[in-house]
Amino acid sequence: MSVVVDPAQRGLTLEKKLQDPELLRDRNLIDGAWCLSTTGRSHPVFDPSIGKLLGNVPFSDSTDAERGIKAAHGAFHDWSRRTAKERSALLRRWYELIMSNKQDLGIILSSEQGKPLSEAVGEVAFGASYVEWYAEEAKRAYGEMIPTHAADKRLGVIKQPVGVVALITPWNFPSAMITRKVAPALAAGCTVVIKPAEDTPLSALALGELAQRAGIPPGVVNIVTTGDPVPIGECLTSHPEVRKLSFTGSTRVGKLLMSRCAGTIKKVSLELGGNAPFIVFDDADLDAAVAGLMVSKYRNTGQTCISANRIYVQAPVFDRFLEKLKAEVSRLKVGGPFEPGVDQGPLINQAALDKVKHLVDDAISLGAQAVTGAREHGNEGLFYEPTILKDVPKNARILSEEVFGPVTSLVRFSSESEVVAMANDTLVGLAGYFYSRDIGRIWRMAEALDVGMVGINEGMISSEVIPFGGVKESGIGREGSRHGLDEFLDLKYLCFGGL
Ligand code: NAP
Repeated sequence: MSVVVDPAQRGLTLEKKLQDPELLRDRNLIDGAWCLSTTGRSHPVFDPSIGKLLGNVPFSDSTDAERGIKAAHGAFHDWSRRTAKERSALLRRWYELIMSNKQDLGIILSSEQGKPLSEAVGEVAFGASYVEWYAEEAKRAYGEMIPTHAADKRLGVIKQPVGVVALITPWNFPSAMITRKVAPALAAGCTVVIKPAEDTPLSALALGELAQRAGIPPGVVNIVTTGDPVPIGECLTSHPEVRKLSFTGSTRVGKLLMSRCAGTIKKVSLELGGNAPFIVFDDADLDAAVAGLMVSKYRNTGQTCISANRIYVQAPVFDRFLEKLKAEVSRLKVGGPFEPGVDQGPLINQAALDKVKHLVDDAISLGAQAVTGAREHGNEGLFYEPTILKDVPKNARILSEEVFGPVTSLVRFSSESEVVAMANDTLVGLAGYFYSRDIGRIWRMAEALDVGMVGINEGMISSEVIPFGGVKESGIGREGSRHGLDEFLDLKYLCFGGL
């Protein structure tokens, strides 16, 4: 495997790669206008595969966040009073524009995030599916009537938008993590201020440009970029006019923001880190299990919150599973996102690469054996070789922390009860996976895993139609499905008396 960056692509600026260069925005979107930060400072955005500067965006601070909140607050009255059908039509239009520009959006996403172009275009379409879904769900925010407890009273419940919502999103899915929040928020009648990740703001701004073109009114969607999240985060979590925070990112930052929201009792939705167990029983279809692990583990260079992190394989099939897995991992092509046939791109930044190296070295120093990789790949960019570690000891940090990189850590187990105890021995609980063909075991395991989502003989579980989210320190609330709309609605009880 070698890194070959296409020289033709390397020479082109990002703007020249796009059919519609107007999608490349380098300002904040506030109240329907593209503006510089009040300080006039800017923040550079780099391509992680070759370290090239892609452009600059505003380095905003709390003043800019306040401007965004003011715009969202100003737009809320009109937006929340529009009919669900009107909001639905605008969301539908936004969805169509995202889909018709998905190639350009994919190029922007690949350039700033590093995932292969086909994967990036796939993410754009996946992100768009939330906009389509909530364009439909917007019309289904039903209230209810409750059988009365008193003859002269009638009791009803209506659902109303919570108000201005702050959205803070990560870099690993720069498009989908935004649409998964904005679409239900807008469908419910809320207005938003988005703070995208500092490594990947261009995808957010391009989505903002298309929201404008779709006719979503000024102030409904505001985007504020920065190179320092702290002042903006403090403003968004303490401002009394922000009524909800929806955050996706690490558990550490999620806890911090949740505590800050306590001061003004905001609603919170938190999509936080995971440490997914992936369990292969001795009765599993091993080819299916390998295929499931490949998609769960190596997609997005392993930088996925539901990525398999601890792989438990039952002792009788351990060696056969490893042999099949090694054959698949050895086929992975590593390279820049625009190289044909690339399966795995770079890690997002130097800190991410250092973390992977550190966790692998720690595991090896404690006795794990490297079957493939376990080293950096190539001389340029932030690439790490697709890695398999076997017989990883229980005290290795890689089993208790998200590696967020292309590393499979294999552990042998003997019994069902032993593997359930190991799988649940973590503070987080986002996703879990297992492979078995025994129907009794399938039900027992599905119920026993302390996670919000379970893949049963399946490694790819995301979709706009399912409630995505975790238990324990993996978060609060759900995104996607009909439940995702409720996160942006308050219940109001109406008591009609004197009948
Ligand atoms: P992160 O460091 O927590 O950052 C996430 C977002 O929070 C970024 O926009 C970041 O801004 C911002 N942020 C960081 N510190 C902040 C502060 N003090 N105040 C306000 N905002 C702050 O997480 P990450 O490294 O980007 O993302 C990886 C993590 O996200 C992993 O743990 C992964 O499992 C999790 N994740 C979870 C889900 C899910 O659905 N459960 C989905 C995707 C990712 P900057 O970019 O400027 O630092």
